Amino acid sequence: MGDPCFLAVGSDLARPSQIEQQEEMSRLEDYLEVIYHLIQEKGYASTVAIAENLQVKPPTVSSMLQRLAAKDYLVHEPYRGIRLTEKGAKIAKSVIARHSIVSELLTMLGVQNDVAYQDTEGIEHHIQPVTIKKIEGLVGFLRDNPKVLRAIRDHIEK
Ligand code: ZN
Repeated sequence: MGDPCFLAVGSDLARPSQIEQQEEMSRLEDYLEVIYHLIQEKGYASTVAIAENLQVKPPTVSSMLQRLAAKDYLVHEPYRGIRLTEKGAKIAKSVIARHSIVSELLTMLGVQNDVAYQDTEGIEHHIQPVTIKKIEGLVGFLRDNPKVLRAIRDHIEK
């Protein structure tokens, strides 16, 4: 990890900076997350539904689907729809697991639903597996010890 100011200066160069690469990875993860959910819920993921979920325009989705296919995260056949590859599904499941743990913690702490959702969507891309493991342990403990959770809630809501 370098100095963020130095990295920002590096973005002028043709090679993508570390920050740009992270943003690109976050976008990929968002697409895989939404596609996985849509396929689970509806049996298929249409370009229109993906666009609605991510609040982008369908042509943006189409070009991203091509990039995801080129990276072997999904297979997109005209008239046959989108299917995640094993590699794509693995990332989707990992994002969804991170999402659910972070979301549960924020909800437990009394963060209001829409804020919790928005923050979770950001945090889920920038959290290391070791940190998620710790949060998972904390959430499990608080779930099993509602009195402790109530004391925490009372304290932070004062
Ligand atoms: Zn998410």
